Amino acid sequence: MRLSPRMTLNNGVLIDRLGFGLYKVPPEDAAGLVTMALEAGYRHFDTAAMYGNETGVGKGIGALAGFAGAGSGSGELWPALSREDLFVTTKVWNDDQGYDATIRAFHTSMANLGLEYIDLYLIHWPCARRGLFPETYRAMETLYREGKVRAIGVSNFQPDHLDRLLQAAEVVPAVNQVELHPWLQQAELRAKHEALGIRTEAWSPLGRGQVLRDPVILALAAEHERTPAQIILRWQLQLGNITIPKASSSDRIRENLAVFDFELSATDLSDIAALDRGFRTGSNPDNVN
Ligand code: NDP
Repeated sequence: MRLSPRMTLNNGVLIDRLGFGLYKVPPEDAAGLVTMALEAGYRHFDTAAMYGNETGVGKGIGALAGFAGAGSGSGELWPALSREDLFVTTKVWNDDQGYDATIRAFHTSMANLGLEYIDLYLIHWPCARRGLFPETYRAMETLYREGKVRAIGVSNFQPDHLDRLLQAAEVVPAVNQVELHPWLQQAELRAKHEALGIRTEAWSPLGRGQVLRDPVILALAAEHERTPAQIILRWQLQLGNITIPKASSSDRIRENLAVFDFELSATDLSDIAALDRGFRTGSNPDNVN
């Protein structure tokens, strides 16, 4: 059963608010973790060509779902699960930017995943100094018009990158996936997304685990009788974000999805708002080229 509520992207496509992230999941572990996550109730999976685990992700999906074109599974566990029940994101890597290279990279990703279409295709990093992202995005618009991808978007775009993209783009990105957690709250970007109709998707929603030990988060966890991860993920949802925590055990995978039956108060939210300190666990997008 799907546990996460969904929200509408700017083209009407529905996306699960809470999905499963696969960065740093070794290729040989990906199928098993995806299966575990499907069993726990996740339906949205976030991978990337750069993660090197698209083949494993496709196997994990196919083994349970058993729909044509994905994996080799029989679908015995969940015969009712179909491709339409799933939401799969992948991303074009920096070295494949440019029109032709992006089209090629997309078809490689689709073959690796064993899928006949992708739900969301993202530019992984703008790599602004290379100057190729408008062409990369034009290729994605072609794939979108051809029906090979249900929605297109970007990742790690700063406000000025979005401005530059929108000068030439014909399709407004559905999503900008950026680092976002209580220590990096991205207020300026979130306001810009809101104005443009772009959904904010939070990567490293738990600050790669580091924000879990913040004393304010720990106090809220005690008060609500929840775990620190649940407090942060609940905050992400109440902020309006889509989010994709990664975890490696069945217990954590389930814990991270059990956030739809409680609410943080306005005071809780303002306590967390005060934690913002511009702290990045990953690269500053202006420095990735
Ligand atoms: P997260 O913020 O999701 O944190 C993952 C870390 O937190 C892991 O070490 C995990 O440990 C730990 N953790 C998860 N759940 C719990 C829990 N309930 N209790 C205690 N510890 C927990 O970091 P990620 O960097 O993985 O980000 C999530 C996803 O975002 C990625 O997997 C990827 O899909 C995407 N991403 C996108 C990027 C981009 O450039 N577009 C960049 C980085 C990430 P363990 O695994 O041991 O369980």
